[in-house]
Amino acid sequence: MRTDLSGRTALVTGASSGFGRHFCQLLARSGAEVIAAARRTDLLDSLVADIAAEGGKAQALRLDVADESQVVEALSGLEALDIVVNNAGIAGPSRAIDCEGDEWRSIFDVNVNGAFYVSREAARIMRKAGRGGSIINIASITGLRTAHSAAAYAPSKAAVIHMTKSLAMEWARFGIRVNAIAPGYIETDLNREFLLSPAGEDMKKRIPQRRFGEIADLDGPLLLLASDASAYMTGSVLAVDGGHLASPL
Ligand code: NAD
Repeated sequence: MRTDLSGRTALVTGASSGFGRHFCQLLARSGAEVIAAARRTDLLDSLVADIAAEGGKAQALRLDVADESQVVEALSGLEALDIVVNNAGIAGPSRAIDCEGDEWRSIFDVNVNGAFYVSREAARIMRKAGRGGSIINIASITGLRTAHSAAAYAPSKAAVIHMTKSLAMEWARFGIRVNAIAPGYIETDLNREFLLSPAGEDMKKRIPQRRFGEIADLDGPLLLLASDASAYMTGSVLAVDGGHLASPL
């Protein structure tokens, strides 16, 4: 497996917690120089220090992905970029009947628009450098099936999946690969309260592997897509869900 990332620069959004923090550590351990991007810079500073203590290389970048001009400015300072993980994401609690425009817009602003702004700016850098790159969008199985109380979240992740394929088609000629990971239910700040509730316990029974995922379950798929091991993959969506998507009706 060609998963060594030495000499590569990797940008991870939403790096201050959950998957994002873990992905930064994983990519740094695999040899990449990591740019950890998020709004909460105090949390980023401790992440950068942790990576340095392990002998890795990382820097913090303050970034609100929903702010297009901030994304343009922040990425304009980067000379090289080989890997981008569009991980920043938010969820909302509403069913469609209760979902106000503010909730709908803020979820699309981060999950879809933010991933688009970052991808576009990254692709401009990658095209100029002429050595291709890998963009990985963190979608969700809710973008491929439906979910209760995910009025805006599930459609936003469906948009991320379609955007992944569209960008993959446009940028294949530049050697830029665009793929998505669609995680199932994995315990983080985003969903802990729900997963530990009685409704979460009920859901666990419907997952063929009868467990929620752990963040480390994403390590293999992330390194695969980030590295040359997936050189012939673009426009793909990898479900990492204990079989949840394939569960019987
Ligand atoms: P999390 O809440 O710990 O992480 C999300 C991160 O995104 C946070 O650090 C948050 O600060 C950041 N963020 C939010 N808005 C931002 C903005 N405007 N600019 C920059 N950063 C912003 O939750 P997580 O579970 O680690 O989620 C990471 C990604 O994985 C999300 O896209 C989420 O939708 C997706 N996902 C999670 C699960 C799961 O089960 N945990 C399943 C499927 C998909």
